[in-house]
Amino acid sequence: MKLSNSFWQTYKEVPSDADIPSHQLLLRAGFLNKTTGGIYSYLPFATKVLNKIKKVIREELEKIGAQEILMSFVTPAQLWKSSGRWDQMGPLMIKLKDRKDAEFCLSATNEETITDIFSATVSSYKQLPINLFQINTKFRDELRPRFGLIRGREFIMKDAYTFHMDAKCMDETYEKYFQAYSNIMKRLGLEYIAVEADGGEMAGAGAKTHEFQIIADNGEDDIVEAKEINFAANIEAAKTLRNALDWNDDIKCEQVQTEGMTSCQEVADYLNIPAHQTLKSILYTATYRKKDGSEKKAHYMFLILGDDELNEIKLRKVLKGTHALEPASAETLDELGLPKGYMGPLNKKGFSIFIDEAVELEAGYVVGANKINYHLKGLKPARDIEEFKVADIRLAKSGDLAIDGKTPVKFRKGIEVGHIFQLGDKYTKSMKAHVLDHNGKKVSPLMGCYGLGVSRILAAAVEQHHDENGIIWPTSMAPFDIYFAYIGKKETTLKVAESIYKKLNDNGFDVLFDDRNVGAGAKFKDSDLLGLPIRLVLGERDFENSKELEIRLRKSQETIKVKEENLLLKLKELKASLSDL
Ligand code: ATP
Ligand code: MG
Repeated sequence: MKLSNSFWQTYKEVPSDADIPSHQLLLRAGFLNKTTGGIYSYLPFATKVLNKIKKVIREELEKIGAQEILMSFVTPAQLWKSSGRWDQMGPLMIKLKDRKDAEFCLSATNEETITDIFSATVSSYKQLPINLFQINTKFRDELRPRFGLIRGREFIMKDAYTFHMDAKCMDETYEKYFQAYSNIMKRLGLEYIAVEADGGEMAGAGAKTHEFQIIADNGEDDIVEAKEINFAANIEAAKTLRNALDWNDDIKCEQVQTEGMTSCQEVADYLNIPAHQTLKSILYTATYRKKDGSEKKAHYMFLILGDDELNEIKLRKVLKGTHALEPASAETLDELGLPKGYMGPLNKKGFSIFIDEAVELEAGYVVGANKINYHLKGLKPARDIEEFKVADIRLAKSGDLAIDGKTPVKFRKGIEVGHIFQLGDKYTKSMKAHVLDHNGKKVSPLMGCYGLGVSRILAAAVEQHHDENGIIWPTSMAPFDIYFAYIGKKETTLKVAESIYKKLNDNGFDVLFDDRNVGAGAKFKDSDLLGLPIRLVLGERDFENSKELEIRLRKSQETIKVKEENLLLKLKELKASLSDL
């Protein structure tokens, strides 16, 4: 492609709402055009990158027997009502009406559509397993669209769905997808970790679910890792242990005055004890939706060590089936007689109690006395709290150990680009998608679903691979192999450059030939910003003196001089070695 003929330009200014390097660079380097908040158009070079990403995805999925389809982007409300998600998805899903007032939504995900296709086409166990994928637009009205393509409202996802007669088959396919995703990450040249994840509303109980996270400082996700024992989890799902703690054996329960001290740390400092010898009492209100559509509320007190934090995602898991879960309101606290800053588990009614697994039930703790300006000390949970359940509800933090009780965990930031789930029979049951088994009995098949953020991968790659001058594309997704600049004025050398350009094209290189009539400085700046793996320069003066061209590698910044007659061989060698990375 000759630059003089192509639709491309770069920008010096960083748009004011571009918050992280990948967002800034993709706009400055002329890859994207912002249509409106969270909605972008992909310009020619971005489209080339997307096509390369899609190609790798298609190849790896076809290897594991997946067939490509393309589902409708607009789906009727009735499908979502039958699965129960029309209301559950909340404002994330954008809803619309047609001219006859029929309700629809833009696909935020496609479990309903695929289950509907399945019902209409499959009736016998003999037709299973089924393994289908699509690469399509999704729309999610994200609360805070940001980071450009990383959290867009309209984005491109590869989503795959599988159907199985039994758990063994679902497990085997899950492993295949896990491997295919690993291959995709490697082939795209991305540093990634597969982590245990939270399945949220999507996954059935006890089902496997993993996220594929691209390592990047600006990632929104916290990854907890203990490499030595092969443990990695999203903090949302991570179960870790507190490092050995010294427990308080003073279990004589008495009241202490703690005037104005409303945090565990203040009370601990005042009593000269470590904060983990106090308990934080936190009240939440959960809303449950009954079958008849009415709502029921219930209150829960969670007790965790004074220097720990709650993990709300774990709370949702513990309180299965909650529609909404929020910290209790000031009115609720008043009604239940729980003074903020001094609340505790004793002598009050109207809520159930959960104690975190890290709490030693036989030790003595300081807790709120349910009386302003007072705490209790020497509370022994096993003795003093009448009824409670124990669960893992704390947020993992630095200093923790992995569940082997020995290996310290490390924290890293990641961008979730893929998420695979075992859905079990959640959708086939709710949407009544049956098949007949070998005894002629109606059964609900098991499902898996596998998402991969195609447009998010494009941006995450830039987030992981850039420097102060611009993008450094991994070879496999770079929009071109080579940026080739001609710097000179004479007709004769331009002719040589043109013939080299043609020769490289004929030999399978995808070359961006910068034949624009601009200075060398501007060309080099644009080349760094654009970030192709190899820069080739034919500078008139050098070439006339020595018949040499200059190759510069974007990543290592290494420069190599080559004679024209050795150029093709050298570039072939470089291309092979770069794509091995
Ligand atoms: P997140 O936690 O980041 O909101 P999610 O868990 O809701 O994502 P999934 O439903 O698992 O996302 O979707 C599958 C994949 O689609 C994600 O792994 C991600 O790569 C991509 N994706 C999800 N939401 C967005 C978005 N708003 N913009 C771009 N890509 C997205
Ligand atoms: Mg996810």
